[in-house]
Amino acid sequence: MQGICVLGATGSIGTSALEVIARHPDRFRVAALTAQRNVAALVALARRFAPPLAVIADVAQLPLLQQQLRAAGLPTRALGGAEALVEAVLSPEVDTVIAAIVGAAGLPPTLAAARAGKRILLANKEAIVCAGALLIEAVRNSGAQLLPLDSEHSALHQCLAGAADASRAVRRLILTASGGPFRNRADLSAVTPEEACAHPNWVMGPKISVDSATLMNKGLEVIEASWLFGFPPQQIDVVVHPQSVVHSMVEFVDGSVVAQLGTPDMRTPLAYALGFPERIESGSAFLDFLALGHLTFEAPDLSRFPCLRLAYEAARAGGSASVWLNAANEEAVAAFLARRLPFTAIATVIEATLAQAPTTVPRSLQDVLDADAAARRYARALIGATA
Ligand code: NAD
Ligand code: MG
Repeated sequence: MQGICVLGATGSIGTSALEVIARHPDRFRVAALTAQRNVAALVALARRFAPPLAVIADVAQLPLLQQQLRAAGLPTRALGGAEALVEAVLSPEVDTVIAAIVGAAGLPPTLAAARAGKRILLANKEAIVCAGALLIEAVRNSGAQLLPLDSEHSALHQCLAGAADASRAVRRLILTASGGPFRNRADLSAVTPEEACAHPNWVMGPKISVDSATLMNKGLEVIEASWLFGFPPQQIDVVVHPQSVVHSMVEFVDGSVVAQLGTPDMRTPLAYALGFPERIESGSAFLDFLALGHLTFEAPDLSRFPCLRLAYEAARAGGSASVWLNAANEEAVAAFLARRLPFTAIATVIEATLAQAPTTVPRSLQDVLDADAAARRYARALIGATA
């Protein structure tokens, strides 16, 4: 029986994860659930899964959480605040941590899980983008296990299975991108948050939806793949594949390409990681090749989507550049969603912020948090000046 902590349980990934978990009560037991501030949603999940622990990151909501858990007659212990997220992953009842918080806010508990030798199923790409070196080192030192949930990285993990010496055998990793909702839209100046969040193939949280619309999501995924699989960014290519059926590919030196396919449903990568190395049912629909008709591929347009270029630049620069890239993106996306920044200015803010990133290499969690805070200050000032 695996004891599972779901960080970000009320989100898109958290909810899908709990659906897969609920299909396998013989394998998984929910040990802890966390959310940012939505007490009602967290209590609804607590009623269904009766976890020993529930955490609300916004400590002001803790009294309400305690009161509602008591009213529901649940034995669930309640904690509040960002430090309680770390406490949740360190609980002895937790074997596996589903890291599904959005943004760099998910880094401290994810790193704590890595240091404690837990099995980590990672959706929170911003954590590995900001602190890839620290996270991978912690996993190695503690004997933790790190499995990707991002569909592209789950695909790469599956394509690489069985490659004896990947560093010699692989010519390049090929990440597929849907192209987002604006693949065929020439003028992006008047894009609204509603349009940006209407993804053609996936239903996701608002931040990653905007990232998919700017292609920053793919840029973050290049950096994520680089850390997870140990390849430099020059060996990772992006190809636009609007059907989102091929989730990514590995090209080997002998000319073979191995691809992983499936319907676009996050329950598939969730079930792969939850069951690994076994295969378990996910609830996803199966692919109907005859109904698919055709699969198409095209190059990404870096002039309309400069965020992908900026992410490659940050990946090549190394050091704190990825932290600055991510922080500027989080601030710019939040401002866009709040209608304080035009869509096309997201890239402008990131480019100007990234230009200020120092060449220093963050050596500790505190270094990363300091770089994140400095970059956010810079980006916020720029956004204030733009708005
Ligand atoms: P979401 O907005 O739907 O959910 C985010 C969750 O994190 C919520 O439970 C929220 O309460 C919690 N949260 C937000 N800010 C927090 C904070 N400061 N402290 C503590 N908890 C906080 O987001 P999502 O779409 O589920 O994405 C989660 C992560 O997974 C992101 O990093 C995203 O890039 C990645 N991801 C998502 C998908 C997808 O299909 N949704 C696919 C691949 C990767
Ligand atoms: Mg992805």
